[in-house]
Amino acid sequence: MSPPREPALADLEAEAARHRPAFGRDAHVLCDNLVRIYKTEGVEVVALQGLDLVIDAGELVAIVGASGSGKSTLLNVLSGLDVPTAGVARVAGVDLLSMTARDRLRYRREVVGFVWQQTTRNLLPYLTAAENVELPMRLAGGRRRDRAARAGELLELLGVADRARLRPGEMSGGEQQRTAIAVALANAPKVILADEPTGELDGETSEEVFAALRRVNRELGVTAVIVTHDPAVAGRVDRTVGIRDGRTSSETLRRASSDGRIVAEEYAVLDRAGRLQLPRDFTAALRMERRVRLALERDHIGVWPQDAEREPGGAADGPEPGGEERGGAVSGPGRTGDG
Ligand code: ADP
Ligand code: MG
Repeated sequence: MSPPREPALADLEAEAARHRPAFGRDAHVLCDNLVRIYKTEGVEVVALQGLDLVIDAGELVAIVGASGSGKSTLLNVLSGLDVPTAGVARVAGVDLLSMTARDRLRYRREVVGFVWQQTTRNLLPYLTAAENVELPMRLAGGRRRDRAARAGELLELLGVADRARLRPGEMSGGEQQRTAIAVALANAPKVILADEPTGELDGETSEEVFAALRRVNRELGVTAVIVTHDPAVAGRVDRTVGIRDGRTSSETLRRASSDGRIVAEEYAVLDRAGRLQLPRDFTAALRMERRVRLALERDHIGVWPQDAEREPGGAADGPEPGGEERGGAVSGPGRTGDG
């Protein structure tokens, strides 16, 4: 009798691949290991260092992170203004690294719409609100009558129909930003990108602008990606993606629990290589540095400080059937649970 054949590594890998979901296959926005290096006067700044992001069609996602973490760089890439150094970036099926100049123009005109923080960057000061909204349609070759009708509908949807004949200088900051959203939507883009759209507004006004973004997401089905510093905005979307040092580091998902409360669950992002960024407050609380001890449990992975005391026969010694986690285990999935 011959011994059972040991499965070759290739067989195991093929088997694993069959069970692995195709990474971001149906994603509307997909960044995989995205890198953007700026070179100025011989000095390199790595603004994005292997960023991963997957957003489905119709999602409303907030991007948060400290100043300088790479949020604007990411949005510039997604808007087609900037070209990444390496990695994969795809939006609505368009590959942002291999676009020709002509593709890029069409992409920026028809596939994405954007709203910037500075109201003056969004609107031309010598055109009325309606003319500002019509301009992108004119550039795309839309018919005059259709343009006027669509501009009217969009201004109505954004609650600024009565400002149609005013110039930006005659409107409040919030009205200008809502008009800017209408401009961004003029050519019916699939994705709307907003970089701190409420950054220059006061609380109540920024609430109106955020509500407007949410309305266009819900009513027009447009995928929305909003960079924000505003906790009131970040706290009210279904998904918040945290960026740290040019990488996606964490995600907060909000969902209704069975009793109708909204629960927020914290997640870390696991990249394809299996890398995980632990929240800094977690690692600091347990003084984890440089190296941590891991143990595979039945339904989670335990993570301990390197020199945490090993209890004889305790869970910290390794897998134990049905064992409860002890000490500093950082366990998935989610640490909030239902209650
Ligand atoms: P955020 O929007 O999160 O504040 P940015 O994307 O603007 O961050 O910047 C990320 C990093 O890249 C920062 O260190 C910033 O100084 C640098 N950076 C951004 N734009 C440029 C540029 N055009 N040239 C050189 N460095 C840049
Ligand atoms: Mg920025």
